Amino acid sequence: MRSVSEVRLTPVICPFCGFGCKLYVRSIDGVPAGIEFYDKGGVNEGKLCPKGVAAVDFLRHPERLRKPLRRVGERGEGRFKEISWSEAIKEVATRLKEIKKVFGAESVGFLSSARCTNEENYLMQKLARLYGSGNIDHCARLCHSATVAGLIKCLGAGAQSSPFTDILKTRVILVWGYNPAETHPLLMRYVLKAKDLGAKLIVVDPRRTRTARFADIHLQIRPGTDIALANAMMNVIISNDLYDRDFIVRRTEGFEELKKLVMKYTPKYAEEVTGVTAALIDEAARTFASAGRGVIMWAMGLTQHTVGTYNVVALADLALLCGYVGREGCGVYPMRGQNNVQGACDMGALVEFLPGYRPAAAEEKRREVAKLWGVDELPEPGLTVVEMVNEAGSGRIKAMYIMGENPVVSDPNTSHVIKALNNLEFLVVQDIFLTETAAYADIVLPAAAYAEKEGSLTSSERRVQWSFKAAEPPGEARPDWVILSSVARELGLKGFNYSSPEDILREINAVVPQYRGITPERLKSSPEGVFWPCPSEGHPGTMRLYEERFLTCNGKAKLVGVEHREPAEKPDREYPLILTTVRVVGQYHTLTMTGRSLSLVRRWPEPYVEVNPEDARRYGVSDGDEVYVVTRRGRYKCKVKVTSSIREGVVAIPWHWGANILTIDALDPTCKIPEYKVCACRIERVGGG
Ligand code: SF4
Repeated sequence: MRSVSEVRLTPVICPFCGFGCKLYVRSIDGVPAGIEFYDKGGVNEGKLCPKGVAAVDFLRHPERLRKPLRRVGERGEGRFKEISWSEAIKEVATRLKEIKKVFGAESVGFLSSARCTNEENYLMQKLARLYGSGNIDHCARLCHSATVAGLIKCLGAGAQSSPFTDILKTRVILVWGYNPAETHPLLMRYVLKAKDLGAKLIVVDPRRTRTARFADIHLQIRPGTDIALANAMMNVIISNDLYDRDFIVRRTEGFEELKKLVMKYTPKYAEEVTGVTAALIDEAARTFASAGRGVIMWAMGLTQHTVGTYNVVALADLALLCGYVGREGCGVYPMRGQNNVQGACDMGALVEFLPGYRPAAAEEKRREVAKLWGVDELPEPGLTVVEMVNEAGSGRIKAMYIMGENPVVSDPNTSHVIKALNNLEFLVVQDIFLTETAAYADIVLPAAAYAEKEGSLTSSERRVQWSFKAAEPPGEARPDWVILSSVARELGLKGFNYSSPEDILREINAVVPQYRGITPERLKSSPEGVFWPCPSEGHPGTMRLYEERFLTCNGKAKLVGVEHREPAEKPDREYPLILTTVRVVGQYHTLTMTGRSLSLVRRWPEPYVEVNPEDARRYGVSDGDEVYVVTRRGRYKCKVKVTSSIREGVVAIPWHWGANILTIDALDPTCKIPEYKVCACRIERVGGG
């Protein structure tokens, strides 16, 4: 007699972008069998983008890691031997102890993961700091550290100020260096709905993206000139008395200094710098300021510059000038790339912040957290992601523990990253596949994927949601929180005897003030999730920040004037074009997950370089030609896509397939974000020319 299979629908959070869509994983007898649309509300109203629809494909992929591995061949060769969990944990702890004894704890770097839950990020930074190293960071450094630094400076908190539903109540949407149609398609639904309700759409982008095609005004800016454009818009707004005088007087400080600075940036001057006509700058400024309610959205086109922090400051100034913060239908929206970037930052998986954004450089804050963890002291802030890699190259960093990150593909100037990893004494990688980075590891620890464990995640709008366990992990793979707890205990660290993610979240409730009222019981029983800050269990959660005061010392927002500065590398005779990197809707990050979905790979199979028709003629290339894109750091082969969507003098490559071999590792001195979005390049035809 055939037994009846158990079919279950389990609500989980999509493992890809930071929009926070909910979906059901359908499992049969504990094995993932497909996805179903979530039918109990939520931010995505049951809809999913192509990546969400394919979210189960990689779970069942035969290449999933099933057992811990020890390297037997040369680094990068990918030759490993299976070992037991007890051997693996013992070896990791023993090597880390030895390295600490000889070189000090600060010679070890830890990378946490925006793909892991809040509980796992909390544990990774706790492990690093209790081990004694302040070198704890994660990929927010590479995408939104500029946002955190810039917004904290102006508004007091580094997060999205308002819920996505406020977009439907706005009158103007300014989308800057961001292409939601490709990167957050479900957010694009909100933008298009707002347009249907009468809102104007202004897009700032060097490319005529799928988002820009819907724009009322498209400012096709030269990459790296955002501040000049924002200052010129503020110039128009102040000169024509279109700013919100009452808001400026009551709720901000620094207006006179800002006014003095932006007066230099006339639209005519900005036209020369940005390549956008003075008339269009004037029209955009007037449209934005006179709408009455407005939102500004941005992503990596704005932040990934050596002036990333100042770019964010300039947009915060623009929003404040018009009084578009702290009111319904208004807000600043820095759109997060990975599904838990916001949560990983909140948990303190950043060099400069302890849990809850306590500055790690402040001794009294370190003491406060040390007391909560039952230790005497915590280390001072250490190195960021790119700095750790640089110091691995120089020999100062001796070991790295990397959880769910893939710097060999995601960091800038990747040849340099490979050399640096090769130089390490010891590398541990904890992941779901043998990634390009794991191929260089001494020990590989197999982790459970999103639907094979549970825990909380925080979306871009500060909405904390619970993701339930739908299926068993393959082989002996374990949830990251289980692995981290085992390593910490083997290292002899106290305070890692957790029995469940709920246990860890209860500790987060006590340590992270913004999450105090977001208990596991509450999260598990509320399909809509809870917004932080939520100071107590009875508190409903805060959907909109700054309604009464800004989170600065005196409650007032700071207007901070910033000057335009040139990018680190400009085109010249040898490298006459500007290279910028972009993303496509059907692939994600370093392809670790989407690259293993047949349906996505069929539709989005390979990289290409977008070239303007004038540049194509000038450099003798045609649509479909194979070329090398060459920079001072490397060469990259792909096909040409001739398109007038990109401005002359600029070429764009989706970075998922490894184009970071070309990008520059020049950093913003404030937040240390690399300048992925501008470097000089040339095109060479494959076979010469
Ligand atoms: Fe997932 Fe983002 Fe697509 Fe939603 S929009 S389904 S969260 S990738």
